[in-house]
Amino acid sequence: MRILAYHAQEYEVDAFENWAKNQGIEVVIDHGLLTVDTVEKAKGFDGITTQQVIPVKDEEIYIKLNEYGITQIASRTAGVDMFDLKLAKKYGITITNVPRYSPNAIAELAVSHAMSLLRNVKHINTAMKDGNFKWEKRVISKEIRSCTVGVVGTGQIGLTAAKLFKGLGAKVIGYDIFKNPNAEGVLEYKEDLNDLLKESDIISLHLPLTDDTYHLINRDNIRMIKEGAIIINTGRGALVDIEALIEELESGHIKAAGIDVLECETLYVNQEVEPDKLKDSPVPKLMDMDNVILTGHFAFFTETAVDNLVSTALDNVKHEQETGEVVNAMN
Ligand code: NAD
Repeated sequence: MRILAYHAQEYEVDAFENWAKNQGIEVVIDHGLLTVDTVEKAKGFDGITTQQVIPVKDEEIYIKLNEYGITQIASRTAGVDMFDLKLAKKYGITITNVPRYSPNAIAELAVSHAMSLLRNVKHINTAMKDGNFKWEKRVISKEIRSCTVGVVGTGQIGLTAAKLFKGLGAKVIGYDIFKNPNAEGVLEYKEDLNDLLKESDIISLHLPLTDDTYHLINRDNIRMIKEGAIIINTGRGALVDIEALIEELESGHIKAAGIDVLECETLYVNQEVEPDKLKDSPVPKLMDMDNVILTGHFAFFTETAVDNLVSTALDNVKHEQETGEVVNAMN
C-alpha cells in the first residue's frame, strides 16, 4: 500500500515516519497543497491525506482523483469545510476526518491562559521590564481555589477543562444545551447561561460556531458578567463580539481575556504576516494589552494532538484499503 501525504508540515514528519515504520506501509511526503496543478501526483497511490488551508472545490480535482482510483481523501483535521462534499460523493470519493485528536491539548491552554491572567503575569512582566519589581496591590491575585469557573460547552474539551480546573481546586459550573452524563461530580449545571455569567470568576468557552452560538458573548450579556471576571476563548473567534469585549476590558469591568481564536484569524493563522496586514484588525490592540493573552490558534498544537491527527488520518486510509469499509466518513 502507498499513501501520498499532501501539505505535510515539518512538525508532522516524525509522526508520518513513525506510523509508516510501525505499519510497514509507504507514506510519501509532499509539502504542497492538493490543487488542480498537483492532483496528478496522486496517480499510482492507493490513498491520499491532506490538511488543506485553501478549498478543494474545483470539480477537476475530484474527476482526476476518481480516474486514478482514489476513493478517499483523509483530511488531517476535524472540520472538513475545505472540501465540496457533494462533488466528492458524485465522483465516489469519501472525505474522512479526525473527530477527536486530543481534548487535553485545547483544555490545557485554556487553563494555562486562565492561570497566567489570574496571577497577572503579563502586568508583572511589563513592570519588571521597566525596573519595577515591587509587590503592588494592583497585581495581588486570587487563588484558583477561591474562584468559580464557568465552562460553556461541556463536550469533550469543555469537560476536560472542567476536570483540570476542578483538580486545581476551583468550583466548576457549566452550561450546555445537552448535559454531559460524564460531568456528574465534576461540575454543577446552570439552566440559564446568564446565571453562569453572573457567578463565574473565570468563563471558558468550548462551543462550536453555529447560528445559535454566533456572538454568544455580546454587547448585551457581557454587562451581566461578574465584575473582574476573566474570559477565555479557545472555541471559535465568532463566539465573542470582540469589540464589546475590548470595551469591557478597557473599562476594567472584565479583568482579563485569554484569546486563542478570533473572527479575523484567517488573516494570520499559521503564516508569517507583515504588521501592515493586521493594522485594521483588533490584533495589534489586543497584543498591546497587559490584560490580554493572544495566541493565534495554537491550542491544538501539541505533540500528542499532531501525532493523533496524522495517525488517525492514515488509519482511515488503511482501514478502507484493508476492509473496504470507511470510518470517520463526512459525506
Ligand atoms: P463537542 O462537540 O464535544 O462539545 C461541544 C459542546 O457544545 C457540546 O456539548 C454541545 O452540546 C455544546 N453546544 C453546542 N451548541 C450549544 C449552544 N448553542 N449552547 C450551549 N451549548 C452548546 O466539541 P469539542 O470537541 O469539545 O470542541 C469544542 C470547541 O472547541 C469547538 O468549537 C471546536 O471547534 C473548538 N476547537 C478549538 C481548537 C483550537 O485549537 N483552538 C481545536 C479544536 C477544537
